[in-house]
Amino acid sequence: MNFTVIGGGLMGSGIGQVAAQAGYKVTIIDVSNEALEKAQDRISLSVKKFAQKNIIPNEEEVLSNLRFSTNWDPISKANVIIEAVPERLELKKETFKRLNQLAKPDCLLATNTSSLSITNIASVTSRPEKVIGMHFFSPVPMMPLLELVRGYKTSNETYEFAKEVGEKLGKRMITAEKDYPGFLMNRIWLPMVNEACFAVMEGVGTPEEIDQGFIDGYGHTMGPLKTIDMAGIDTALWAMEALYEGFNDPKYRPCPLLKKMVEAGDLGRKTGKGFYSYN
Ligand code: NAD
Repeated sequence: MNFTVIGGGLMGSGIGQVAAQAGYKVTIIDVSNEALEKAQDRISLSVKKFAQKNIIPNEEEVLSNLRFSTNWDPISKANVIIEAVPERLELKKETFKRLNQLAKPDCLLATNTSSLSITNIASVTSRPEKVIGMHFFSPVPMMPLLELVRGYKTSNETYEFAKEVGEKLGKRMITAEKDYPGFLMNRIWLPMVNEACFAVMEGVGTPEEIDQGFIDGYGHTMGPLKTIDMAGIDTALWAMEALYEGFNDPKYRPCPLLKKMVEAGDLGRKTGKGFYSYN
């Protein structure tokens, strides 16, 4: 089985890693060689740690299942494609147009979007029944959850195939039966994070206090602001914008502080500065 991931960033590299661990032959495709080098480093480090803890039996075998490419030729051989490019609707639609031209007719076409309409993304293809949301959680090698999202035209066959893939990847799955912005998890989680940003912006509390409160008061392992620093402030803002636009409801208005941080380039861990500073 050939497995292709489009976009080798935080999520794409994690998805590629778990697929390689599950025995798939994986190609990770990105526009940037630098991103692919980072993906390779990130995966090597993580696989090494897993091997040291005996979570995976053979480090070399996992790494030998992986290829990295800026070339789209491997698409024509793929049985499963998971798209993980940035959370911008037009970019996702462009990507799916291209996938539609190159992928085999029976290939599973999945998007890892956190909030955007699967139906809208699928609409640019001639096979919307093959398109589904497979929303992984970060860090993908550690988080057991996979949220499956049915688009308006997703077929049962595609849903069952995606479920089979999810099982092979060792994920526990939940399903958003309808394609509404943010699906099940982010529809609930993102507004809460957004509210935490408002609380910081209005000076009600510091990120440290809010995060500690979630750990001590609600038993979370990580507070909301540290979590979006890890996920990417840009990704969180774009997903919140998708909820705001998708529901057309002021209660989802993205916090202006998030916008300012993105404009300033404080995107979280990946740029060394978000709500916290990183070396
Ligand atoms: P990221 O910025 O870390 O990675 C995106 C990658 O896509 C980059 O390496 C970039 O070079 C590459 N890319 C850009 N344009 C491309 C193109 N046309 N073709 C191929 N590659 C391209 O972003 P991420 O955090 O990995 O997010 C990717 C997707 O996953 C988004 O839809 C996001 O909403 C979703 N998601 C993110 C998280 C999270 O915690 N960050 C969680 C769940 C889902």
